[in-house]
Amino acid sequence: MIRAFLEKVGLLRKSRSVSPRLGKHAPHIIPRAQHGISRQDISENALKVLNRLHQHGYDAYLVGGGVRDLLLGLRPKDFDVATNAKPEEVRRIFRNCRLIGRRFRLAHVYFGHDIIEVATFRGKTDPKPEELSHSEHGMILRDNVYGTLEEDAWRRDFTINALYYNIADFSVVDYTGGFSDLKAKRLCMIGDVAARYREDPVRMLRALRFACKTNFELPKELSRPIAKLKDLIGHVSSSRLFEEMMKLFHSGNAAMGYALLKKHDLFSHLFPATEECLHQEKYPTDALLQVVFRNTDLRIAQGKPVTPTFIIAALLWHPIRLKSDHDIANGMPVLPARMQAIETVIHRQMQRLSIPRRITQGAREIWLLQMRLHKRHGKHPSVLMTGSRFRAAYDFLELRAQAGEPVADLFQWWQQYIEGDDTQRLALQRAVSQDQENKKSRKRHRRKKAPDEKT
Ligand code: ATP
Ligand code: MG
Repeated sequence: MIRAFLEKVGLLRKSRSVSPRLGKHAPHIIPRAQHGISRQDISENALKVLNRLHQHGYDAYLVGGGVRDLLLGLRPKDFDVATNAKPEEVRRIFRNCRLIGRRFRLAHVYFGHDIIEVATFRGKTDPKPEELSHSEHGMILRDNVYGTLEEDAWRRDFTINALYYNIADFSVVDYTGGFSDLKAKRLCMIGDVAARYREDPVRMLRALRFACKTNFELPKELSRPIAKLKDLIGHVSSSRLFEEMMKLFHSGNAAMGYALLKKHDLFSHLFPATEECLHQEKYPTDALLQVVFRNTDLRIAQGKPVTPTFIIAALLWHPIRLKSDHDIANGMPVLPARMQAIETVIHRQMQRLSIPRRITQGAREIWLLQMRLHKRHGKHPSVLMTGSRFRAAYDFLELRAQAGEPVADLFQWWQQYIEGDDTQRLALQRAVSQDQENKKSRKRHRRKKAPDEKT
């Protein structure tokens, strides 16, 4: 009653339940004149693939994020193609093609670094009862069945992800109501939400991600079941979780993604050591992550590059500090303590998210540079500045200062040093030497030595 009233007066967005009604309804076809997708917005390579498939007599559609983002006026990250051609048939048409995937075979068509993923329409999961296709938790283990366009549409996760752009007549084909959901800014799961989360727990993270990416509200129907099902995330492979997290943080709305992960208690499953720091007064972890994600979103909006290395460096910085500061307080020298903490924290984090080696290596460099940025005498500053990770380390120092870590003076010094000419740089170095000399003499007067001040 109350819900209906609130919906009526516009205080609550109407929810919709979408359940597969295969073969019961003709699709809604949105002709070229009634949607905003133009071939100019589609990548040349995706068009090549669509046109070649069509010329060979197959059905060929652009599907998923590509269609959704074009309809929203966003720039798609990649273009996926769906077709009735079998993977082997796709390979026969394209010389630059490789078949991948065991659970479901996909064709990858290569154009240099650009890959267009071509998927054959999927059907309903294998109905044979004697063949186990779900795990004991309800997760799909195998879904290697080809199907029709309609079946393919109902298997997808959200209605806004189940829209097909038909290269034959440039119309959009909609079986699930995704077109009107997009217009109404409604994120709507196809089928029973809890059952679809159980089938593939990554869909919980995808729900958050698409709410962030589209700036749609995360409706209660999608968020409520997460409380009961969030532990299922533990059954998902660590490499898939890494991919999904990175997509969330690169969605252009990472600040909202971070807030939603915390709100729905998923953050603790993905970054347990960082979660622990959120409950400590010692470090401004929450402030740092908010600053970093806001900065990430701003950079994306400005078309500047953002790297997963920087994001991982920020997420694990305080866990490393927590462990190493504890060891230093127990008498361990600073550098070995930091090095050991870095390895321990990375090792533990890898059990949740499988972070590629090049990223952990880059993050290590950023962390170690945070210590080296304190060394400002002699040739140190000019040598540091030539290092490949200097810029990232300097940017990270700025965000630490903004988050309230006691490094604002250090950052300001580096800012002036970078902008200064030779004379100004020399003066800055002199000032820092003088400052350190004063500190030393003050220390000599103190009976008890203060703990290490570095970093
Ligand atoms: P992005 O813009 O981030 O690539 P996307 O919607 O294209 O977003 P992908 O992971 O590339 O996301 O997936 C492509 C499409 O495949 C989705 O739009 C959706 O239709 C379908 N899909 C992907 N993952 C799932 C899933 N776990 N369950 C059901 N359908 C899925
Ligand atoms: Mg995609």
